[in-house]
Amino acid sequence: MNFFLDNTLQGTLPELQRGSQHNLHGRWLGEGLMELTPNTGYRESVIISAGIHGNETAPIELLDHIVRDLLNGVLPLRVRLMVILGNPPAMRAGKRYLTTDMNRMFGGRYKTFPSSYETERVRRVEAVMTAFWSANVPMKSGSRFHYDLHTAIKGSHLPRFGLLPFQNRPYHPELLKRLEAAELDALVMHQQPGSTFSNFSSEQFLAESCTLELGKVNPFGKNKLSDFRAIDRVLRAHLGSLPFPHRSQPPVRLFRVDRTIIKYTDDFQLSVPSDTLNFTGFEKGTLLCQQNGIEYRVENDQEWILFPNPGVQTGLRAGLMLTELNRWDRPVT
Ligand SMILES: [Zn+2]
Repeated sequence: MNFFLDNTLQGTLPELQRGSQHNLHGRWLGEGLMELTPNTGYRESVIISAGIHGNETAPIELLDHIVRDLLNGVLPLRVRLMVILGNPPAMRAGKRYLTTDMNRMFGGRYKTFPSSYETERVRRVEAVMTAFWSANVPMKSGSRFHYDLHTAIKGSHLPRFGLLPFQNRPYHPELLKRLEAAELDALVMHQQPGSTFSNFSSEQFLAESCTLELGKVNPFGKNKLSDFRAIDRVLRAHLGSLPFPHRSQPPVRLFRVDRTIIKYTDDFQLSVPSDTLNFTGFEKGTLLCQQNGIEYRVENDQEWILFPNPGVQTGLRAGLMLTELNRWDRPVT
């Protein structure tokens, strides 16, 4: 069971697909899918996923190290845990995805896309996750957590940030405490439901979930894992019920999504350079993009851009525009 990532990268099965060691019980549930249950009982169920985008290697390596340490007994396990490597063929190919971005397909939306590896994989991952959340632990606030780990394609003024799914209920204080301890530079709150993996677990299963963007994409073996030390320590503290590290960075900055820029037509033109860094600020009136004869401009005194990408397929998100909040409730401007 020890070589979760090796087996997944080689497309092989582990010799032993279930077993007990070091006070936990492990089950291999399919390629890149594994469940670990402590023998001594637990109060929380946690999912950690990485590789939903196959070329985002640092979180995949980080997760693999955590799994090794759990299986070797170096790290104690005090929660029921599922680990998910999202897109193994894309990981092997060093690509973000083979046909379509998985993180646009969750919540059953895969049914609306042409059939591909990714549509089948999202169906499978949703089924495995549903079975996991449905077992044992009652659906109550603070008993389920999901961390979906990513790295960003482009550079960022704020390199480490979390995206919180839209929720009608408040974000759980334990989750926020952990994200602050992970030394994130910013948290971005969605204002409407979306198609991401973290939205799926929050919306369908009331999990306390977050998409984490932890730095920049690099090939396997080219990551400085020391850059990921803070999130690594927080995840390990959560799994092992160990004390959380104290934040040493300035307070996390809070943003909300003000608008989603959708590419509706093929004549879509981004009016800011396509290599604009994430969290670049723009003043009111700045032209952002144009399509079908319509201009889109900054509407608030100051807005920040996230994930600008004019190359997406028509109908998909070409960027997000954010406004900053001064704490958990009040807009800055
Ligand atoms: Zn990603």
